[in-house]
Amino acid sequence: MDFKEHVRVIENFPQEGIRFKDITTILKNGQVYHQVIDSIRDMVKHLEIDLIAGPEARGFVVGAPLAYAMGVGFIPIRKSGKLPGETIEANYSLEYGNDKLAMHNDAIQPGQKVLIADDLLATGGTIATSIDLVEQLGGKVVGAAFMIELTYLNGKDKLKDIDMFSLMQY
Ligand code: IMP
Repeated sequence: MDFKEHVRVIENFPQEGIRFKDITTILKNGQVYHQVIDSIRDMVKHLEIDLIAGPEARGFVVGAPLAYAMGVGFIPIRKSGKLPGETIEANYSLEYGNDKLAMHNDAIQPGQKVLIADDLLATGGTIATSIDLVEQLGGKVVGAAFMIELTYLNGKDKLKDIDMFSLMQY
């Protein structure tokens, strides 16, 4: 299946000059969504994984079904102020904007192996901050998986030596 056929590109969103890759057109097609998640699972199934962590909001629609498919738990990474329990936080910068991400401080036990999942790798800011949070709790990031990688933004450089997996590249 050519997954790119199911990604809608929206010009000048959320800012002038940005060609936004809209994955809602994948999500609304049950067969395509299922195949996308299964294909990502096939790319990472050789890894030893205890948990999958995903940043809100679109990291949830990749990370949670992937965790279900692999039979491991899912850890939500959220914007500051959204999680009900005690949290740790880290700053991040996006392709367009700045914010803080948070994770429950008991989400990961030291030594647990964590795969980070998100819909799209752009500049790598979100994923670098997610790695920071996992490592603050003593977790080991064993990989990062995405539906889409924007290769021209070189986000991969922020992953250092962490294995990266992407289903589609632009
Ligand atoms: P980064 O932090 O620059 O790598 O940006 C990645 C984050 O921004 C991901 O969580 C994406 O959901 C979001 N993002 C950036 N550009 C796009 C896009 O074109 N389509 C969908 N999400 C995007």
